Amino acid sequence: MRTLLLKSLLASPVTEPAPAPSEAALAEVAARVDEAACRLLGRSLAIRHVDAGSCNGCELEIHALHNPFYDLERFGFRFVASPRHADVLLVTGPVTKNMREALERTYAATPEPKWVVAAGACAADGGMFKNSYAVTGGVSSTVPVHLHIPGCPPSPRALLEGLLALMER
Ligand code: SF4
Repeated sequence: MRTLLLKSLLASPVTEPAPAPSEAALAEVAARVDEAACRLLGRSLAIRHVDAGSCNGCELEIHALHNPFYDLERFGFRFVASPRHADVLLVTGPVTKNMREALERTYAATPEPKWVVAAGACAADGGMFKNSYAVTGGVSSTVPVHLHIPGCPPSPRALLEGLLALMER
């Protein structure tokens, strides 16, 4: 026991170092999204996240947008609790049969103008769950999609760049 304790105290961590941050590039992308949203909507962007059946890998990256490193809200973005307050539905995962109606109702409850962003490979076409008996397919099988963000999962930076592409269309 003592040997094991000593070994764990002396061993170096097995985690990989984080990629070097590029605060300036991140701030530039985020500021451009906010500027485009203000031009289009007269205010910052409100995003409602919908997990339509994800493995939660995509959610971890979306949650990272709130952590002290990315701190998305300093640029004006808000994740809102109700689709009635949202401009963008950010949908992750393949659409499972259990979540299909919930996604349709969330889409119907979102006021115009509204955009749907499908984030991740599963949201594009079902991804690795494509042929599952429990899955209807990608997000576009249920609601119209304005933008796909590729990746499994997409990084926080890719999510931001996707929102920017959407606003600049
Ligand atoms: S794209 Fe990858 S991380 Fe996202 S829900 Fe599918 S399997 Fe999970």
